[in-house]
Formats: sequence, C-alpha cells, structure tokens
Amino acid sequence: MSEIHEGGCQCGGVRYRTTGQPHRTGVCHCRFCQTRTGSAFGVSVYFDADQVEILSGDLKDYSFTTDGGRRFTTRFCKTCGTSVFWTLELFDDAIAVAGGTFDPPTFWFDVGREIFTRSKAPFVHLDVAESDETTPGAAQE
Ligand SMILES: [Zn+2]
Ligand SMILES: [Zn+2]
Repeated sequence: MSEIHEGGCQCGGVRYRTTGQPHRTGVCHCRFCQTRTGSAFGVSVYFDADQVEILSGDLKDYSFTTDGGRRFTTRFCKTCGTSVFWTLELFDDAIAVAGGTFDPPTFWFDVGREIFTRSKAPFVHLDVAESDETTPGAAQE
C-alpha cells in the first residue's frame, strides 16, 4: 500500500493528491524560492510526475530561465496566487510540490538537505544533515 497525501492552495481551488514517498526533498534558499514564496526559503518535495494527480483547480504557469540557462516553471493558483508546484528542466520527469501546501500534518516528509545556502537568510538555522552552497548540478555551470 502506498501512502496517500493531499493538499492544495490557500483558496481551496487547487487540490492535489500524491502517492508514495517523494524521491527527493530539500529546503532551498535560492533567490527564486525567496521571491516565489515571499519568505526566506522554499520547501521542495519532489515526486515523479505520475505520483502527483491534480484533482481540481485552475493553474497558471510562469517560466523563466536560470543563470545556468535552465528552464524553471512555477505553477500557481489563478485565484489566490499560491505557488503549488514547479518543474525544472534539470529533473524533467519530476514535479516539485511546495511543502507547505500539504494538508495537516503538513510536514509528514523528512527534509535532510538544504541547498543554495549562499543566499540563506542569517536568521535561519536548520537541523539538516547536508548543506550545499548552490546545488551539485549548478556547481559545474
Ligand atoms: Zn487558490
Ligand atoms: Zn530554490
């Protein structure tokens, strides 16, 4: 039996369901996650595309290209603006779910890693095993 979790945006218009465990999780301190959330960091929960089912809602996509030349697409609720998902060209068949959008108990997954600590807010102190200045992928760019 696979674990099922649901979540959605602030207004409730966008609802989704995930099946099974994420294949990767992390806290991201990059500037994009800071502007995307309006907060200090993003919480990324990566699933394979077929583990995420969008049940309802009207999503708008916004794509941009990172300094490293890779496409980054964020998907947010057209009504309330909550950033719910994003996809990265780097991990093409994966969908990142914004960790804070899961229904309570919201943080059911473990986060063992933080990335882009070069732009980390000085007041943030996390209990994670692994830390990266950027990402291993970006380091070669
Ligand atoms: Zn909404
Ligand atoms: Zn980020």
